[in-house]
Amino acid sequence: MSIQSKSISVEKASQSKIDQIDFDNLAFGSVFTDHMLVCDFKNGAWELPKIVPYQPISLDPSSKIFHYGQSIFEGMKAYKDKNEDIFLFRPLDNHKRFNISAKRLCIPEIPEDYFMEGLKTLLKLDGEFIPKNEGSSLYIRPFMFATGKGFHASPADEYKFIIACAPSGAYFAGKVKVLIEQTYSRSANGGVGFAKAGGNYAGQFYPTQLAVAKGYNQVIWTDDTEHEYIEEAGAMNIFIRINDTLITGPTSDRILDGITRKSILEIAKDHGINVEVRKITVTEVVQAAKEGTLKEMFGAGTAAVISPISAFGFKDTDYELPELNAPFADKIKKAITDIQYNKSDDTYGWRYKVTK
Ligand SMILES: *Cc1c(COP(=O)(O)O)cnc(C)c1O
Repeated sequence: MSIQSKSISVEKASQSKIDQIDFDNLAFGSVFTDHMLVCDFKNGAWELPKIVPYQPISLDPSSKIFHYGQSIFEGMKAYKDKNEDIFLFRPLDNHKRFNISAKRLCIPEIPEDYFMEGLKTLLKLDGEFIPKNEGSSLYIRPFMFATGKGFHASPADEYKFIIACAPSGAYFAGKVKVLIEQTYSRSANGGVGFAKAGGNYAGQFYPTQLAVAKGYNQVIWTDDTEHEYIEEAGAMNIFIRINDTLITGPTSDRILDGITRKSILEIAKDHGINVEVRKITVTEVVQAAKEGTLKEMFGAGTAAVISPISAFGFKDTDYELPELNAPFADKIKKAITDIQYNKSDDTYGWRYKVTK
């Protein structure tokens, strides 16, 4: 069963909101485009996707999303180059991961052509909302959740898949100070940490609030048994540079397989940076900080691309990271964003052209 963009019905918004958007002062993900893609799963199959004006959705109070949390999402971006052509970055990897998350949460998988044709049709329709300013982009949020009714604790029989988009500025302003978590966990062996499940975020908010109250911006997640292995930085993968080696943990049940993470690993190697994918302990990082061999730490994810860390807290002590002239973070971020904004050759085949 294949779908062409012509089988996606389009109901256009009667009036565009584009004039209300201040493209020079965009926050992250707080204003939305004129349209959204909606697709319903009923009677054991996905119905045809349709594009409708961006609007609230109405759900039965017994819908299982509210009670049992069957909800997953993806995060992607669309970019415009100087000719105003529209590009995505490794979108098929997002689709694949979406279905990996779906399977773990007992949500029916969405076919690739529904996802890709739906997304492309939506982007062409709302293309005017993709910011042209440097660093800004259109943040794309595909998500799926259980609409099926009933208080019985079992997978729902009906689901909704939506793609909504938000013109967005840079995610973080400035460097972040992080706290290495010693009590709470984001994920566990055999759990859902590898999935982009809404509930993973719900569980992160409280420990993060506690860290914020202590003066930190974000939590560094550690393993759930010993709190000794460094796993993720908030909702981002984490990279640690000791001397001139860039280290990140291996993906697992507990660590999300980030597209930015795997792109950084390839780009770093191609820039002649020594890269290690291995477990890294808190002890090792604290030791490196004390000896002055800890050079950089940064989070990696679609929203911020790279989010440099200025300091970390561990057991009532703060450790500052040095200010470097030419950090790996800047070099790698530039290489990735140059590919995303069509400013450089893409030898990897990551850039995906939407228009023309
Ligand atoms: C989305 C996400 C990431 C980053 O993944 P990207 O594909 O690079 O955006 C990392 N960790 C967690 C927990 C995430 O949810």
